[in-house]
Amino acid sequence: MREFAMIKPNAVRRGIVGEVISKLEKKGLKIIGMKLLKMTSSQSKELYKEHVGKDFYEKLIEFSLSGPVVALVIEGPRAIEITRHIVGKTDPLKAMPGSIRGTYGLSVRKNVIHASDSEKNAERELKIFFDENELLNYELDYENDL
Ligand code: UDP
Repeated sequence: MREFAMIKPNAVRRGIVGEVISKLEKKGLKIIGMKLLKMTSSQSKELYKEHVGKDFYEKLIEFSLSGPVVALVIEGPRAIEITRHIVGKTDPLKAMPGSIRGTYGLSVRKNVIHASDSEKNAERELKIFFDENELLNYELDYENDL
């Protein structure tokens, strides 16, 4: 199973990219794709297309284009469930302490990281940013030792 995640522009500006990735790594998740990029308007609109028409939509698009982001693909059993658990709830003030949003987030819009909410959306969203040949197949150090 594959999950798409994206570290948002405020987290890049705050210099916490390493800490956010570290939380994913420490949980045991395997990153199989990663790139620093500035989204194009069409990439942002494709990523957030299910939110068209909502009151927060325009500001969300504007924020997402305000600076570089880090796009990530995570692979493994239950990758979506595990990633969303460590990411935490949309509102950082309701996210569990210790989760990424609970630790670093302040506002709902600038909630540090995006993580796809279903297998269908993860596959659709990762294809906005990655070609298949950019996703790497490897084993984590302990993967076959347990
Ligand atoms: N968002 C916002 N205002 C809201 C709700 C959501 O700005 O009232 C933003 C927020 O950045 C969130 C994104 O829109 O991460 C997508 O919203 P969704 O409900 O899909 O939350 P998520 O799956 O990211 O937790």
